[in-house]
Amino acid sequence: MLVVRGGHVLGVGIADVLVDDGVIAGIGSCDAPEVIDAAGLVVLPGFVDTHRHLVQAAMRGSGADTPIDMYLSEVLPRVQTLSADEVHASVLLGAAEALNAGVTTVLDWGHVGDPAVAHSALTASGIRAVFGVYRDHAHRFAGAQGLVTAAVACLSPEDSARDIAVARSLGLVTTMHVNGTGVVAEMAELLGPDLHFVHGNNLADDEIKLLAAAGSGLTVTPVVESMMGHGFPAYGRFAAAGGTPALGVDVVINSVADLFEPMRLALWLERIHSVARPASSLLASATLDGARAIGLGPRTGSLEVGKRADLVLLDGFAHLPADRVAGGIVATAGVADVRTVLVDGRVVKRDGVLVDHDLPALRASVRSLARKVLA
Ligand SMILES: [Zn+2]
Repeated sequence: MLVVRGGHVLGVGIADVLVDDGVIAGIGSCDAPEVIDAAGLVVLPGFVDTHRHLVQAAMRGSGADTPIDMYLSEVLPRVQTLSADEVHASVLLGAAEALNAGVTTVLDWGHVGDPAVAHSALTASGIRAVFGVYRDHAHRFAGAQGLVTAAVACLSPEDSARDIAVARSLGLVTTMHVNGTGVVAEMAELLGPDLHFVHGNNLADDEIKLLAAAGSGLTVTPVVESMMGHGFPAYGRFAAAGGTPALGVDVVINSVADLFEPMRLALWLERIHSVARPASSLLASATLDGARAIGLGPRTGSLEVGKRADLVLLDGFAHLPADRVAGGIVATAGVADVRTVLVDGRVVKRDGVLVDHDLPALRASVRSLARKVLA
């Protein structure tokens, strides 16, 4: 049992957060044998990255000038050549970089080689993960109850009916990339809250409305979409249709590994047209709305008694009045402000340093891999 003492708890004010057996057991005035001093820090729910290909962590920054067509034809086939050891090292690095940035939950597409390899790296990392695997492998990972659960990763929305049927028989979410116009309209009868779409830049307005009305999730990855030419991010259109967009990093070949920039870029792009959107709404996208989009709403994404204790302690915002903290974080926070991170009640980053992972060593372990893939 531990208590996070005296922080500015987002939405509450100055309070303690009691953590017992991995669960938020109390918010208010609490006591426990182990104390984490949060004075001067903001306590917020861990970030939920609802779309990432962690295996590309080793190739960070390599795709700064890679448009989407080149990515699909050149980068993805090279990634498929990674060995099991290389996949493990790269996924572990990606998960460690996520934790370092306060991302406590990630939906990872595990699509290189035997999915058991990426799954074991996720399990070893200490992050909460929804592991997206192709239909034929889904039954192997479906029953898991721990930190790493599963989703069906649908490769081709045009041929999604079988994937969705398998996912529904296993009680899993189906997650899929979608970008072309007409794809969602064709699967209108299949839509539901257990479907999670990614990108959607070129969906027709009617299709965006169908998704929102069905309660399906939509993840926008604004950095990658802007860098690679997917089209204008659908964040504002989905929100205007009554949807609650989620946010993802996608690939670090041309995106940062945190959700601060995706939050900020989604807001900036909206503000170009209109200053109406509150900055704080982006923080909801990066936390609770993300958790809901991938089926983890009851478990994480907010600071509520009974939820798993996925917490971030953030420096630099204690001077603000309570009603400006969330917006201030969206507008100006960065990874360097992430002091301490808990996943499932366990401290994974303490006072600015990862507890279980040595980032320089993890990066050194994949250095030759990046050169091989990029050669
Ligand atoms: Zn993707």
